[in-house]
Amino acid sequence: MTALTPQNWVIGNWKLNPYFNEAKQLFSAIAQQYQNQAELQTCHVAIAPPAPYLSFFATQQTLPIVAQDVSTIRGQGAYTGEVSADLLKETAVELVLIGHSERRELFGDDAEKLQQKIKNALQAGLTIVYCVGESLVQREAGQAQSVVIRQLQELADVTHDTEWKNIIIAYEPIWAIGTGKTASPQDAQQMHAAIRVYLQTLTTTANRIPLLYGGSVKPENAVELAACADINGALVGGASLDAASFISIIQAFAQ
Ligand code: PEP
Repeated sequence: MTALTPQNWVIGNWKLNPYFNEAKQLFSAIAQQYQNQAELQTCHVAIAPPAPYLSFFATQQTLPIVAQDVSTIRGQGAYTGEVSADLLKETAVELVLIGHSERRELFGDDAEKLQQKIKNALQAGLTIVYCVGESLVQREAGQAQSVVIRQLQELADVTHDTEWKNIIIAYEPIWAIGTGKTASPQDAQQMHAAIRVYLQTLTTTANRIPLLYGGSVKPENAVELAACADINGALVGGASLDAASFISIIQAFAQ
């Protein structure tokens, strides 16, 4: 039977870090502690390593592996440098980040490209971690919710009803990513509740969609965030590069 409430997820986004030897040590430390502590396992854990390491970690089959990006191109062909959803799926990658603000802001991922990536990933059978979030200027102008709802609408426009089970949403206010500033649990919960209400207008399965918070999540703020009704986990950048910090964030969401 499918769960009627969302599953909790903590996902480590390593971005363009660390070098391979260090990555192997970090991955083993996280995987071993997670596997040895049964109480952590009520929370799902996944790692998004840099692209060159994906297949190495995915074939170990210890933790689900997340690609940090995917091509707008499907399948295979003469597309130098591209990595398609189909090839990711073939190498046992299970999830993919789409719409991370660093890709939107630095690499020209506009709505049209993101929708192509979403379609490709869903058709290949990957689970999408779709990132949404407003800038500081947008928040200060009172536009935070409308920006996030528009980004969700762009997702909904290319998602069939049966595909929502393969979608995780990560709310990541851009001003909180890598800055040490976190949205207050109240602000984060308010946005998550608005996201949930909006998803309920799109699909009958809205209450099962995991809503993760991202933006300077660390052991010091994870417990408070985890206590919020509509926060079902975290997308963690900086703190996922330290095994002890990452494990204590998992602990907070495994309660
Ligand atoms: C992220 O990159 O998705 C992120 C939330 O980073 P950090 O935790 O470092 O703010």
